[in-house]
Amino acid sequence: MTPIFHPQPVNDPFGDPLVYVDFLFERRALLFDLGDLTPLPARKILRLTHIFVSHTHMDHFSGFDHVLRLCLGRERALSLYGPPGFVGQVAHKLSAYSWNLVQNYPTDFTLIASELCEPGVLKRARFRCRTRFTREDLEDQAITDGVVLDEEDFIVRAVQLDHDIPSLAFALEEKLHLNVWKNRLVELGLPTGPWLRALKRSVRRGEPDATPITIRWHDHAGVHERTLALGQLREDVLQVAPGQKITYVVDVVYHDENARRIVELARGADTLFIESVFLHRDAERAASRFHLTAQQAGRLARAAGVARLVPLHFSPRYSDEPDALRDEAEAAFSGDTQ
Ligand SMILES: [Zn+2]
Ligand SMILES: [Zn+2]
Repeated sequence: MTPIFHPQPVNDPFGDPLVYVDFLFERRALLFDLGDLTPLPARKILRLTHIFVSHTHMDHFSGFDHVLRLCLGRERALSLYGPPGFVGQVAHKLSAYSWNLVQNYPTDFTLIASELCEPGVLKRARFRCRTRFTREDLEDQAITDGVVLDEEDFIVRAVQLDHDIPSLAFALEEKLHLNVWKNRLVELGLPTGPWLRALKRSVRRGEPDATPITIRWHDHAGVHERTLALGQLREDVLQVAPGQKITYVVDVVYHDENARRIVELARGADTLFIESVFLHRDAERAASRFHLTAQQAGRLARAAGVARLVPLHFSPRYSDEPDALRDEAEAAFSGDTQ
């Protein structure tokens, strides 16, 4: 099964924790967190459509200027999501510059910032280049089950965790993984084409089996049209499987309520990116700085039943024992710990 998302940490685990999610079949990408992203080439940054920021400590938000500067001339809007207070912080970032010349730009680059101000409510504002990034408040958006973004193929869910301040963790979930059996199309004498996208959309929406799907195409013999039932086409030409799930959890203190929320968010994920800042021998230090130890991260991954654990955000105090944090997280993940 070919996955549609390709998630990759931007830096080595001692660097700022960011995860870049490339889409294999579309020219777009998502980013979790916005710290130092200098290793990312400009073409990859220009592909970003949505950025999800856990909280605004500098190691998670200082890349904002870098992205803004590159995106200034582009047409496509950029959406940013963050914790309570985030919209105001984006406004402050933008108001720190002089924008007297931007009204002459050929494009009207637009930022849309959203904050999860309370469970179930997204507060939003728009900032347009042509109006010198003056804040325009948009209507609040009601959300359910923490779903901050709901697109045709996937959702992104956010949950608020405690890092002394609120810190958001995110899950990216593909709705249903649908593959087309090309050989079956040939057997049935059906063409490839845009109708397959429409078919997938109808399947994802859960439309009734009897829904007619009309397929039109032309070839050397002329114009053809066939109408087949959705249920039959789903059986005959589609492979249906559970979608891919990726979870991103950073900057969070260990306590029962955080643990419960992390496990619930990450349950059954294909990949869990999770901070593993301190060794467990320094658990007190971790708690006083509102971070996880590698062992705690590994245990959470195990409790959530994830397939793959990727530890991130290593403290530089362990730079002379670079494998220790990963080893400790892996041991707890595999259950090999007291
Ligand atoms: Zn951090
Ligand atoms: Zn932090």
